[in-house]
Amino acid sequence: MIPQLVRICIKEALEPGVVSREIEDLGIRVDSEVRRGIVRALEEIATTLVSRKGPSLYCRLCRKGPYTKRGAYLHLLRIHSEDIMSIVREEFDRVIGQL
Ligand SMILES: [Zn+2]
Repeated sequence: MIPQLVRICIKEALEPGVVSREIEDLGIRVDSEVRRGIVRALEEIATTLVSRKGPSLYCRLCRKGPYTKRGAYLHLLRIHSEDIMSIVREEFDRVIGQL
């Protein structure tokens, strides 16, 4: 489940606005408040993953680039899955702790 969330997070970084639908596709049954918390957390994390300079994308975790959208997706997934996973875990603990 967490790796799926990492994938969603990376997608969101490259194509903002996909989190809600992707979470729905996973078919996770959670309380709507928890769900909103999860969506918000993933959206926030996504904003910290890439930076844009014109049409080029740069990794904000290691500053490598420039990448195309596809290149950035593969880079984040291959190199930073574990980093993103631990950010997601921390953020979820925080969000769920607030409920
Ligand atoms: Zn990187």
